[in-house]
Amino acid sequence: MKIDILTLFPEMFPGVFGSSILKHAQEKELVTINVVDFREFADNKHNKVDDYPYGGGAGMVLRPQPIFDAVEEITSQTEKKPRIVLLCPQGETYSQQKAEELAKEEHLIFLCGHYEGYDERIREHLVTDELSIGDYVLTGGEVGAMVLTDSIVRLLPGVLGNAESAVTDSFSTGLLEHPHYTRPADFRGLKVPDVLLSGHHVNIENWRAKEALRRTWQRRPDLLRERTLTEQEKAWLHQFEEDIKKDL
Ligand code: SAM
Repeated sequence: MKIDILTLFPEMFPGVFGSSILKHAQEKELVTINVVDFREFADNKHNKVDDYPYGGGAGMVLRPQPIFDAVEEITSQTEKKPRIVLLCPQGETYSQQKAEELAKEEHLIFLCGHYEGYDERIREHLVTDELSIGDYVLTGGEVGAMVLTDSIVRLLPGVLGNAESAVTDSFSTGLLEHPHYTRPADFRGLKVPDVLLSGHHVNIENWRAKEALRRTWQRRPDLLRERTLTEQEKAWLHQFEEDIKKDL
């Protein structure tokens, strides 16, 4: 996979991309990440990338020319048209499902906005996707581009070892993940559930499935509304509800 990130602040990226799993993924050549300063594409003397909004008002707007030119140069070297993703608080809210979808692409371009936002023609005529990382406004798209890159790259085959497997991660299964415990089995009198010490794999898997469901039911019941529940899951949910009634 190749990811090109268009930004006015390339100096923000080395820490995140030069550490941990993202660093190893690049070293293993499972992904190539290029951070491109689109100011270099500005066609004016002072490399100006923004201008005042037509109609007046606060803030500066990113001009279309540097961004169109930067994308055109990048795509001139590729046969297949990449997905061109605009980081934008007005976009579709980013999710694990979207990360899984984008992880199947060969080439992605992320556009990081700044200031008041983008000239609308970038949105209408250049990009294929508009994504928001949540209902809040950041100063720029850079942190969002890091979020997308991290969540996508960790899904690429070979990036995570067994120890960090993404298969049971929250959202991948449609549920939040089950709780985890590690040594010691007794920490200041706080005990690890017996079943996890039993060595009985079927019972452990059942416990994990039930606790993942319980956690989702407690914290994110909205996820359950979209789920086709198994008979076992329906029975567990009934049991959780009965347990609550008993405690009242
Ligand atoms: N005036 C814009 C609005 O109200 O929609 C907000 C502009 S924001 C200050 C500047 C840039 O930060 C945006 O163009 C976008 O690239 C990025 N950004 C801000 N919030 C974001 C979010 N929640 N998700 C993704 N990108 C975001």
